[in-house]
Amino acid sequence: MKGKQILIVEDEKPIRDMIAFGLRRAGFDVREVEDCSSARASIADVRPDLLLVDWMLPDQSGLELTRAVKRNKDTADLPVIMLTARAEEQDKVTGLEGGADDYVTKPFSPRELLARIQAVLRRSAPGGG
Ligand code: CA
Repeated sequence: MKGKQILIVEDEKPIRDMIAFGLRRAGFDVREVEDCSSARASIADVRPDLLLVDWMLPDQSGLELTRAVKRNKDTADLPVIMLTARAEEQDKVTGLEGGADDYVTKPFSPRELLARIQAVLRRSAPGGG
């Protein structure tokens, strides 16, 4: 997992800092943006290995960003994990139907998030089932 690029899309700085700190310590190469338009620009610039998207963002919802990423043939196979405070079952289903590969409900522990990220990266690795 060393050197894998993760793009964090989260407008709440304390949460973004906490996530980025944990991921950098685990050896990931982390980029951070705070809204969907910056995320699109960042993805177009350098494609990350995984996208971590908060549901509630200032310009568009994380769900809209996820749908757009999955609709684009250049990024359709880019793994996406959605972060959200919405614990409702229906929201979870909506998130997964929108194309998210996994879903983490706030509050989460950095360790749980790391485990989810590693699982999704393993699933998306070439030749890795
Ligand atoms: Ca947010």
